[in-house]
Amino acid sequence: MPDTKIKCPTCEQMSLWDSRNKFRPFCSERCKLIDLGAWANEEYTIPESTSASDFSSSENEDQIDRDRPSISPMH
Ligand SMILES: [Zn+2]
Repeated sequence: MPDTKIKCPTCEQMSLWDSRNKFRPFCSERCKLIDLGAWANEEYTIPESTSASDFSSSENEDQIDRDRPSISPMH
């Protein structure tokens, strides 16, 4: 039986549609959160959408790479 592949609505990567993929139809938690707009409150930073020249600022250090807010998917 072939795997069912879906295209992530956020990043357009192909990902597996499977019960093990709890983030479907997204490929990852990040893409799911992006789509949900959960990072609109600046809790989430997505570096890929910003230019590298903006990365020199150290003022944002406190917001980056800290422990993520605990988001516990239902089992
Ligand atoms: Zn994705």
